[in-house]
Amino acid sequence: MTTTTLPATASSMTLDDAPTAGMFERVTCYLCGGDAARPFISSVDDLTGRPGRFTFVRCEECGLAYQSPRLTLNHVKSYYGDGYIAHRKTSWGVLGPFFEWVMGALDRAKRRIVERVTPLTPSSAVLDVGCGAGGFLAHVHERTGATVAGVDFVDLSTHPGLRGVEFHHGLFYEQAVGASRFDVVTMWHFLEHDYDPVRSLASARQALKPGGHLVVEVPRLDSLSFRMFGHRWPGLQAPQHTVLYDKATLITMMERAGFEVVEYLPYGAFPPYFYLFCGAAFTVLRGRGLNLQKGLWAYLAGQVLLLPVLPILKHLNFAMQTVICRRAQL
Ligand SMILES: [Zn+2]
Repeated sequence: MTTTTLPATASSMTLDDAPTAGMFERVTCYLCGGDAARPFISSVDDLTGRPGRFTFVRCEECGLAYQSPRLTLNHVKSYYGDGYIAHRKTSWGVLGPFFEWVMGALDRAKRRIVERVTPLTPSSAVLDVGCGAGGFLAHVHERTGATVAGVDFVDLSTHPGLRGVEFHHGLFYEQAVGASRFDVVTMWHFLEHDYDPVRSLASARQALKPGGHLVVEVPRLDSLSFRMFGHRWPGLQAPQHTVLYDKATLITMMERAGFEVVEYLPYGAFPPYFYLFCGAAFTVLRGRGLNLQKGLWAYLAGQVLLLPVLPILKHLNFAMQTVICRRAQL
């Protein structure tokens, strides 16, 4: 259940080191395999302020934007340490209940997106790929009685959120999760981190029952927030983000993987205000890193000030996108 072929030796990099040339590898296009690419945009690690500069290119053949060269899997691991927000390991002190409420709202929004196309019942089986600390899975199980399983690159099996959950640690496409087993596979902000998205989508297709649904949410490159913030766009999230999807390349990738696209949403469960706040903060901080705990009061103040306009962001192609697909009946 916990098999993995991730390199056993951890990177020797410390948090203060810039990655050296030997830690990177060149990548051909994830979508078409093309080798010809032109420079697109370069970025720093605006979120944590760790040193280093990262380059995204655009494929000359199909237009996919992706990071190349990228850090090798072994060297990118140190960017998913204990402070990584999705893993819920940071202690938020007196603000803990607020953080949990925010994450709970995110889980509810994810469930609503899934239930647009398929009801979740005690007889449903749901697999979350890139499940982090398992909040979404716990929520789904509690609210619907569905059977749940999760996969993550980072071993969070001891996290309380994953207690009692079938958890697979490692690269998704190397896990034996079972064939034609799940009614729903979800990938919430997973595919833009993936080192082999085509292979992961093939694995998702295999894991789904015929007629089952795949839900994928990723940041949207052809969005208003990218036009506003450019190389400080939070969706670049270098070096963790390997691929930057626009609407066309996301849909093409799903179709190439053999999925039928059922619905495309120009938003996701993830709050678009987060990108507005972080984009503005990254522009001011210019790569010095954002302490989310210290910045929380500013985050909340901005949210209150902008309360009247926040619902509009959902309709402006502001930051996220979600595609809901079906594995065709045989
Ligand atoms: Zn390409």
